[in-house]
Amino acid sequence: MADLSGRRALVTGASRGLGRAIALKLAECGADVAVNYVKSEAAAQEAVAAIVGMGRRAVAVQADVADEAAVKRMVAQTVAELGGLDILVNNAGLVQDQYLAFMSAEQFRHVLDVCLTGAFFCSKAAVRHMMKGKWGRVVNISSDAGLMGDIQRANYAAAKAGMIGLTKSLAREMAAQGITANAVAPGIIETDLTADMPGPRREGLLEIIPLKRFGRPEEVAALVAFLCSEQASYVTGQVLGVDGGLRM
Ligand code: NAP
Repeated sequence: MADLSGRRALVTGASRGLGRAIALKLAECGADVAVNYVKSEAAAQEAVAAIVGMGRRAVAVQADVADEAAVKRMVAQTVAELGGLDILVNNAGLVQDQYLAFMSAEQFRHVLDVCLTGAFFCSKAAVRHMMKGKWGRVVNISSDAGLMGDIQRANYAAAKAGMIGLTKSLAREMAAQGITANAVAPGIIETDLTADMPGPRREGLLEIIPLKRFGRPEEVAALVAFLCSEQASYVTGQVLGVDGGLRM
């Protein structure tokens, strides 16, 4: 198991789904964790209680990642409560599906604001603290959609592709500071985001996924924990898939 003892982590969108699984996994590996949420306070507090139950420190930090002032407050709160910040997982995200021909500018911008600009705001605020310790890990949760495109998801795919450019630029800029940046590109993972998928689409996807099933949040969390560890010290600027072989 990855050893994250003594590390302080912030996971965005950690009240539910992948983010929650990542927050719990980092804590299981020894990290103290700030659990970000935008609306689901009770779920975030429940994740905090689960982490505290593992003997780690944890705090719920509310912020809309698309709001730079709120992100600055969140990072300051994390640093104050946990005593520093070594690991950032940019996981917060959402979809607003529509065919490109009918997608409003608002729908396009909102998904980019949360998924891409949010990751930029959080990275900017967090790396300033990581630089002080000359050690850091940034993991961006992109998506196969960013590499393959997706129907009704021009906004989402563009944001997730943008996260890959952000990751690689951050990896290049921060290498001399002991900070790595990598992207994880999940395929279809069982969370609220995929729960409403119509039956025929679900069956069509299962057909083309070599492992013939959707993934579990814990399967993404395991890779994220490795990337956050010392063992991953020579891995930076990479895009790693967790998708049952969908994109190969
Ligand atoms: P989810 O179950 O819908 O959870 C989304 C999380 O993001 C929630 O914790 C939510 O907080 C938070 N969030 C949404 N908007 C936010 C904002 N403006 N500021 C801060 N937090 C915000 O989604 P998921 O499936 O776990 O997805 C997590 C990440 O993985 C996303 O970036 C998604 O694009 C990516 N991904 C997922 C899949 C998949 O198949 N599930 C595949 C590829 C990539 P609240 O609970 O407070 O609303």
